Amino acid sequence: MSSHETDKKLPSLFDKCYEYKYADDVKAAGIYPYFRPIEESEGPVVRMEGKPIIMAGSNNYLGLTAHPKVKEATVNALKTYGTSCSGSRYLTGTIPLHEELEAKLAKFVGKEAALLFSTGYQTSQGVIQPLVKRSDTIFSDKDNHASIQAGNFIAKGSTGTNVIRYKHCSMEDLERKLASLPLEAGKFIVTDGVFSTFGNIAELEAITKLAKKYNAKTLVDDAHAFGVLGEGGRGTASEFGVTDNTDLIMCTFSKTLASLGGFVAGDERVINYLKHHSPALIFSASPTPSSVAAAIAALDIVTQEPERVQRLVSNAEFVRKGLKDAGFNVIDGRTAIVPVLIGDNKKAFGLWKGLFDAGIFVNVFIPPATPPNKSMMRNSFMATHEPEHLEKVVECYTKIGKKLGII
Ligand code: PMP
Repeated sequence: MSSHETDKKLPSLFDKCYEYKYADDVKAAGIYPYFRPIEESEGPVVRMEGKPIIMAGSNNYLGLTAHPKVKEATVNALKTYGTSCSGSRYLTGTIPLHEELEAKLAKFVGKEAALLFSTGYQTSQGVIQPLVKRSDTIFSDKDNHASIQAGNFIAKGSTGTNVIRYKHCSMEDLERKLASLPLEAGKFIVTDGVFSTFGNIAELEAITKLAKKYNAKTLVDDAHAFGVLGEGGRGTASEFGVTDNTDLIMCTFSKTLASLGGFVAGDERVINYLKHHSPALIFSASPTPSSVAAAIAALDIVTQEPERVQRLVSNAEFVRKGLKDAGFNVIDGRTAIVPVLIGDNKKAFGLWKGLFDAGIFVNVFIPPATPPNKSMMRNSFMATHEPEHLEKVVECYTKIGKKLGII
């Protein structure tokens, strides 16, 4: 008997855990799509439940996690530095690879300096909070990624700073909100470059113009834009030609850069300030030697082979067009993310199961990750998908979509 059952005289903090049954019900119906182990992953075709599956839901956008040079670099770093840095950058956790990667990233995105964090999620927490104080205001797009929302929340909780969320991509709403404060008040506009669920692109040119007009600083999270948009995959600021006007660019390594970690890039003095004031940096162990080595090798490949970016974008476009022509409700875009609106949870799970049985893995997003009754399939593509993989995705979607009455 669990301790929960023996203590049952009073209501308990954990009652909700014992009462939560939704995931069990979906599992019992055989259509639970989450936490599925991937047994081997050597390319766009992975192995799950012992069979080959076309991966159409990964963030491994340029397919570099399986690249021989990336793998070799991780092994070499492991041999030289061991498995962990066992400390934060501030104290005993800095190795030359951290500094090499920071210099290369800063150069790649067109900024003076960069600073690494141990995950992308942690990066927004490590950047936002140290830069704001009680009298400042953060302006955050309503659809920003959960890591930014968490970063805002930590800033608000620790400094009392004001957080104002503006309507998704509404420049009118953002301007109205910026204009409501005195010009000299501290303002920080924070936005995803590419929004992670629907793959749409922030209006960064307009945002940087508003920032200038209303005396605000800007931070863009380029998790889904790095390696996808801009010159050679340099991201959203490069796409709009506003790199100099975008104060800070942050990003994760877990997508294009084939690793685990994150970074922020900006003016050297701002990066130097963060190095000495960011709790998420100072009180957390630095990225492992192998993670950093993988990101360096991946970045070198992105820099030397920009054609991979073009291949990624055209692969996604092939499926976007194919699904639209078949009659699916596809959200338009030009990134690696191809969202298909389904609506009903059960139909979405049914489509997921049909695709999985046919040898294709995609992601299913249901409320609260989406608005109510707006379940969707979040497909994402890789530069390394071959035409036959993409054709099979469109063909299976069409067949199963017709069977389930979705199209
Ligand atoms: N920002 C965005 C926009 C993301 O989509 C993600 C991950 N999905 C993160 C940050 C977090 O990155 P990581 O997985 O490296 O923690």
